[in-house]
Amino acid sequence: MVSFKCKDIGMDCKFEATAANVQDLDDKIARHAREAHKITSLDKEMWTKIHKAEK
Ligand SMILES: [Zn+2]
Repeated sequence: MVSFKCKDIGMDCKFEATAANVQDLDDKIARHAREAHKITSLDKEMWTKIHKAEK
């Protein structure tokens, strides 16, 4: 299991996600970014940050 907290990348947001693997987790994060933060495409820098925050 891997998990992610939006606040770990400096967002003022209570979103938390868990998934069986990183790929599924990335999907959930991308969807959350779109729906909650209106970020339609996460750039490379953002993904680097996200991957560091995933555990
Ligand atoms: Zn968030």
